[in-house]
Amino acid sequence: GLPDSSLFLPQMERTFIAIKPDGVQRGLVIDRPNKFIASCSLLRKILKPSGYNNQISEIISRFERKGFKLVGIKIMVPSKGFTQKHYHDLKEKPFFNGLCNFLSSGPVVAMVWEGEGVIRYGRKLIGATDPQKSEPGTIRGDLAVVVGRNIIHGSDGPESAKDEISMWFKPEELVSYTNNADKWIYGQN
Ligand code: GDP
Ligand code: MG
Repeated sequence: GLPDSSLFLPQMERTFIAIKPDGVQRGLVIDRPNKFIASCSLLRKILKPSGYNNQISEIISRFERKGFKLVGIKIMVPSKGFTQKHYHDLKEKPFFNGLCNFLSSGPVVAMVWEGEGVIRYGRKLIGATDPQKSEPGTIRGDLAVVVGRNIIHGSDGPESAKDEISMWFKPEELVSYTNNADKWIYGQN
């Protein structure tokens, strides 16, 4: 083990977060880069290939800046059956079939985030299910408009977090580690 990890691990919890196919596909496309961007080769590289700035990094950075720790990440296209299992609680809902068709329609970025209170607070960062009701400042509030395309999933409690993490990840795909910043994020006593 890494030094000090025992100091921080006891209060830690983990949650499952996924960027849905709409969040993966919806970059901020700058069709006509302005003169400054066009003249700056470094900016053109960052915004490659024609001013495309992916929303994946925008979402990840919100969890990262808060102080939560990324312990697992992968990109995959889940099968329809897999998404039905993921959303099994909603199988009676009229939108269930469309929801599962959509979630299995393209790449999803699956992640596990760790931190004190990350399950509940992750839901706060994400915002209300319907982006029309999500507060500005939340991911859905800032980046989505309709409930069927709300770009991100987050576990809604300790039970679902546990189930979803074990569904989406093998234990060896998750990494326990100490960040240098942990002692500044959590303090030591
Ligand atoms: P979440 O935990 O905030 O994602 O919300 P739920 O677990 O209640 O629902 C899962 C997902 O189903 C939501 O993120 C939406 O994408 C979708 N969904 C929920 N309610 C509706 C609805 O009324 N209509 C449609 N079309 N989709 C919905
Ligand atoms: Mg839910």
